[in-house]
Amino acid sequence: MYRWDIEYLNKLLLEYEQKACEADSKKQMLEFDKTVASIEEILEYHAMYFEDIENLCEGENTEDKVPLKKIVASDKELFKNYKPYLIFLRNFVNSLEGLVVDNNPRFTRIKVASNQIVNIGKDFYEQHKGEIRDAFEEIYRTLPSHLEFKKVNNTGTLFAQTFNVYGTNESFFDIGLVRNAQDYITLIHEFGHGIANLLSPGFLWDRNKYCFVETDTLFWELVGEDYISSSLGLRDSAHHIALANLREYLYDADLMCSKQDIYSKFNSDDLSNKKLLRRYLKNKIGYDNLAVNHTLYSMARDEIHYIISYLTATELYLIYQVDKKTALDLLVKIIKVKGLSSKGYLEYIKSLSIVPGEHIKEYVQQLINRGRDLGYGKELYYRH
Ligand SMILES: [Zn+2]
Repeated sequence: MYRWDIEYLNKLLLEYEQKACEADSKKQMLEFDKTVASIEEILEYHAMYFEDIENLCEGENTEDKVPLKKIVASDKELFKNYKPYLIFLRNFVNSLEGLVVDNNPRFTRIKVASNQIVNIGKDFYEQHKGEIRDAFEEIYRTLPSHLEFKKVNNTGTLFAQTFNVYGTNESFFDIGLVRNAQDYITLIHEFGHGIANLLSPGFLWDRNKYCFVETDTLFWELVGEDYISSSLGLRDSAHHIALANLREYLYDADLMCSKQDIYSKFNSDDLSNKKLLRRYLKNKIGYDNLAVNHTLYSMARDEIHYIISYLTATELYLIYQVDKKTALDLLVKIIKVKGLSSKGYLEYIKSLSIVPGEHIKEYVQQLINRGRDLGYGKELYYRH
């Protein structure tokens, strides 16, 4: 049985409130305050979930809720702060020009108990001896009181998140189960966040590292797909999960490039003119209504880090296929590096001879070949 131990969280909250009061220095007090704030966030989330379970399950439509002006301001700020990263989005989209990912799989339902899904996650991480396995074992011990499963409504929208308690080793996992092979991958992903928090405490609070913050978890997903494919025989599902991710990130990258285009093309008055922007995106870029809406109302800050992290993760994954140890050493380095500027992190990644998305075509070719082996031919192809 897995349940968040709310009593324990309340105790932890009191403990850190106390520590903040008794702190010797202002600096120390601010640190403890951050811990207090992160515990409060977890407790609030938990309370909200139980009060407002319907709303969360509906995956409410946020379109039109945030005014366009606010979105534009937030995006522009983000594009300015992470300017050196934007070229990777552009290269990703350009290098896969003509690629069609037509993936609408119906996943077979799996009938396994939650603890069996947890055990697959355990088997997966225990293969990796050393620091990763040690960190996982620490997580695993806390799971009965730090993990909670939620039923997901029938739209099947994925939701899962990990809350790290600032300044501590503790992570709380909130997992929505969809009862298909995706559940294994979801757990592997979220456990990855817990492992990263142990190997590099507090790094999720480092805004400069934002673009790489999902690198490790998306890498674990790629390795995890191979794992469920070979050890559970879920070859089809693993392949379709990989395709779904590729499609999503490619689509999002394309939208982000269009966002940049309209921001540089139009002045700020025009940028609040929805009609004008819609017309431009439809006629000049060729988007349908859905893509137009996604472009206008998505927030770049919800997307960019996934795309850059994915492009970095696929590079690591290609290395992993030929040399596991080197790939894992690089991964741990990426998790552990701290205290750099946003430009500095990119320089660091490059100093490890990794360029996000440099070999994405190679990865896509593998997926095409794999699809053919599995008897699929039309999910993934280039249209010339
Ligand atoms: Zn994540």
